[in-house]
Amino acid sequence: MTPVPLIFAAVSDIAGKVRGKAFPADQLDRRLLRGLGWTPTNVQITCFDRIAETPFGALGDLLMIPDPEAAAKVSFADGHTEHFMMSDITTLDGAPWDFCMRSLLRTALERLHDVAGVHLICAFEHEFQVKSRPAPANQAYSREGFELQRNLCETLMAALKSAGLVPDSIMKEYGPGQYEAVVAPAKGLRAADQAVILRELTRSAARSLGEEATFTPIRDIASVGNGVHVHMSFVDDDDMPVTHDENGPCGMSALTDAFAAGILKYLPHIVALTAPSVISYARLTPHRWSAAYNNLGFRDREASLRVCPVTARDPASIARQFNIEYRAADAAASPYLALAAIVHAGTQGIVDGLRAPAPTEEDLSLLSAEDLHARGFVRLPETLERALDAFAADPVVTGWFPAPFAAVYRAHKTAEIAHLADMDTPARCAAYEDTY
Ligand code: GLU
Ligand code: MG
Repeated sequence: MTPVPLIFAAVSDIAGKVRGKAFPADQLDRRLLRGLGWTPTNVQITCFDRIAETPFGALGDLLMIPDPEAAAKVSFADGHTEHFMMSDITTLDGAPWDFCMRSLLRTALERLHDVAGVHLICAFEHEFQVKSRPAPANQAYSREGFELQRNLCETLMAALKSAGLVPDSIMKEYGPGQYEAVVAPAKGLRAADQAVILRELTRSAARSLGEEATFTPIRDIASVGNGVHVHMSFVDDDDMPVTHDENGPCGMSALTDAFAAGILKYLPHIVALTAPSVISYARLTPHRWSAAYNNLGFRDREASLRVCPVTARDPASIARQFNIEYRAADAAASPYLALAAIVHAGTQGIVDGLRAPAPTEEDLSLLSAEDLHARGFVRLPETLERALDAFAADPVVTGWFPAPFAAVYRAHKTAEIAHLADMDTPARCAAYEDTY
């Protein structure tokens, strides 16, 4: 008996999980046209496998349409092959479904293009922790800590390459057993596809070596979190970079300035979508190099939005390398949904002609609430409940999404919160570590 090679048609959902169905690889042509059946209520399966209140019940049918441009096929040294293809979810008539995260991102990117005539170039920088063996102490950024997982790092880089990503770098991060993987930027939707592929292949590469990797937002609140940092720049229709202006504030072009201003203005209202777990808010606290205020930083790793340094010297390379980095995201969020929210917020800033505030160069946690307010800063929501309230409360923000989206999202997250109600913080961290 010869095993039948299967392709897994995958979607990334509200829970930030990758779910789907497999089909025999020799049916690919048919599946690209006709898809695979999918169920609306699946979008209400939380990251803890509970079904939240659902407007769909047992009713309705959808299609998953695999996208061959978003495929990963990797053969690991232990002899097994993984093959998956990110998919769109459509109605039976072929229209994008309101809760297809990929389609939500496509809409946001089209809006950016309609408004500003530009395309997003983006790279997700991911932190994760190896949890299978007790992490050796005192190995922040160390060579020894890196060598302990050289095999995993090299296996992961090979897996990413065979999935068509361009590995940039990998390092031993600060936290216990924490590593950070970076790939080259990609255009629009492809960047979010790559983020899903990277997360899935990191877990797979670890498993193939008898290890386990987690992208959970934070494992231990006495330590640092695992961030997802989203680097963004823009090109015009002729692929010319339009992010940088040497005379602009912090080197930002007028377009980047307005985009950044939109993100900062709407940040408290979108963080429920970019840092969507209960424990995400233990990570988004001062002095963890994550993000706690809606501030702009010039090369400052405590800012929610950072203007990154460039290493290039010549003007053309500087213009292409220059980018801004959104730091208030984690891997409990679907990369499609997180990026859709960020792009809409930035685009709104362009529509409204906003200007970014001056960058901060101080510890904002030392300011009183009045001083923060007087200077136009807010502490980001400190719990998922408050973040959900802030999302629901802003009709501009909910208006970026299909009409039923905000209520369904809230119901989903309410069930996730309820699952954790009787747990203390370490138990909550453990629960998320099991799922991400
Ligand atoms: N671990 C930090 C976070 O949670 C980021 C550290 C850094 O790479 O600057 O976002
Ligand atoms: Mg890092």
